[in-house]
Amino acid sequence: MSSAATRVTGQDQDHLWTVTEHLEDILTTVHPLDPIELQLLDAQGCVLVEDVTVPVSLPPFDNSSMDGYAVRVTDVAGASEEFPAVLTVVGDVAAGQGEPLHVGPGEAARIMTGAPLPPGAETVVPVEWTDGGLGEGAASRMRAHSTAPEGATGQVRIHRPAPARAHVRAEGSDVKAGDRALEAGSVLGPPQIALLAAIGRGTVRVRPRPRVVVLSTGSELVQPDEQLGSGQIYDSNSFALTAAARDAGAIAYRVGAVADDAETLRSTIEDQLVRADLLVTTGGVSVGAYDVVKEALESVGDEDEPGSGIEFRKLAMQPGKPQGFGSIGPDHTPLLALPGNPVSSYVSFELFVRPAIRTLMGLDDVHRPTTTAILRTDKALTSPTGRRQFLRGRYADGEVTPVGGAGSHLIAALAHADALIVVPESVESVEPGTEVEVVLLG
Ligand code: AMP
Ligand code: MG
Repeated sequence: MSSAATRVTGQDQDHLWTVTEHLEDILTTVHPLDPIELQLLDAQGCVLVEDVTVPVSLPPFDNSSMDGYAVRVTDVAGASEEFPAVLTVVGDVAAGQGEPLHVGPGEAARIMTGAPLPPGAETVVPVEWTDGGLGEGAASRMRAHSTAPEGATGQVRIHRPAPARAHVRAEGSDVKAGDRALEAGSVLGPPQIALLAAIGRGTVRVRPRPRVVVLSTGSELVQPDEQLGSGQIYDSNSFALTAAARDAGAIAYRVGAVADDAETLRSTIEDQLVRADLLVTTGGVSVGAYDVVKEALESVGDEDEPGSGIEFRKLAMQPGKPQGFGSIGPDHTPLLALPGNPVSSYVSFELFVRPAIRTLMGLDDVHRPTTTAILRTDKALTSPTGRRQFLRGRYADGEVTPVGGAGSHLIAALAHADALIVVPESVESVEPGTEVEVVLLG
């Protein structure tokens, strides 16, 4: 392979990159996607790029917070169980009805939650403080009329007084026209989407979800549900990483396993470029004879264009030593080439791809949360010197317990982990009961 076409970094082939250096290289290369206008539900999880102002107050009109009767204050003053106020029911006000009726002295309108306070009425008496309009022979009349919109005529007996504007939600008491509803930079979760809909916004300007294409490589790989032949294994990486990309906020496309053939891989990647904001491959990045990703991508750079092409490097980490990173194609689409061992590829995704996806989304917080925890285990953990080790663990209540060993093929243990235990480069062993750093996988 021509080394002239690889990314120019000034580093020699044997240089070991730290996890931090590799991550920094990725995060300085990857930039937030350009904003677009999206339908509200398509913008879920996206970052808003505009300040949204409230066009119309919420609520837009004074309305009742209870089912009850809209009345004048003086008509119910001094009302009690013994001496109820008896008012004439002039009709119903339901939410969403057109012309509200007028409430005069001695009158009441039956009102439903959310319905506008009718003109003339000053307060709302909840239905629980009344006989429900069913006293004194009114019951049969009410039933006879109950399906007609203005049919709730008769009398109602009210047992308690109410001050002005009781059980009334005032116009603008939620937000007022001209207020700032949401600031640029807000992440649109369900409550933010609720607010946008409530103020009448059908579309918003956001950074879109990145489209992430996941390719696995390996002639030994078979899709789940198919029969395994001799020497074959199921392709789990492409499923794990597609799921992880979705979990990070991306729209993820899983491309089935590509055989270990450089030309096939190169043309598959070229075909996928049209729908990718980020490409992720697994396998084929070490130094074996069939390390096809390296072979296919080492020569894709444009010699006249610094920074184009994929560079393969060794990282001071375990698992996940061999990694590739760079950009490819006419749009300089970033590509991360992850190692093939299932645990290595997943840990690499968490450390490098997830922050890249979240950077494309324009999020401020691109990293998983970390915390410290007390190591709960029988015997000391050992770790190779000079490499940052990420062991799988279960975290609870400030303690972390390792699951499985350091082997990067241990998928079952990974399925029971919810944290990564970080053993720094300089540390060779960690005693039980010691405080360790953990990355919480959520
Ligand atoms: P490689 O880096 O391609 O040599 O792969 C390293 C190890 O990971 C080998 O044992 C592969 O069989 C295994 N492996 C590679 N890709 C996958 C995959 N998509 N799913 C499961 N195992 C894989
Ligand atoms: Mg392979």
